[in-house]
Amino acid sequence: MKKREMICIACPIGCHLEVIEDKTSEGGYIVKGATCKRGEVYGVKEMSNPTRLLTSTVKISGGSLKRLPVRTSSDIPKNRIFDCMKLINAVEVEAPIEMGDVIIEDILGTGVDIIASRSLH
Ligand code: SF4
Repeated sequence: MKKREMICIACPIGCHLEVIEDKTSEGGYIVKGATCKRGEVYGVKEMSNPTRLLTSTVKISGGSLKRLPVRTSSDIPKNRIFDCMKLINAVEVEAPIEMGDVIIEDILGTGVDIIASRSLH
């Protein structure tokens, strides 16, 4: 029986969760310690398919700053973060860039884009 303790990061309260495998329940796990539904969803997802939003920066030339803040357009699998960072670190873009511009499309075939978090001219 899989069982793990974790802190919920879905809000700043940070409830202490205990997630226990239970094949009879919906989602395959029971979550104890969650004081709201978001914590239950987080606990199950963290055990079955943990994902994260990724934020970083890329090199930019011709702009008012040397680095452009970027982020994933949605969550990516946690185990792909390291490989995504390698690609992000290798990218250099040229100003002007508008907030939301796609910097890397469909990174590592995840269906998620790396997009600009701000405009930079
Ligand atoms: S369980 Fe709910 S209240 Fe507790 S940290 Fe998670 S989101 Fe916040």
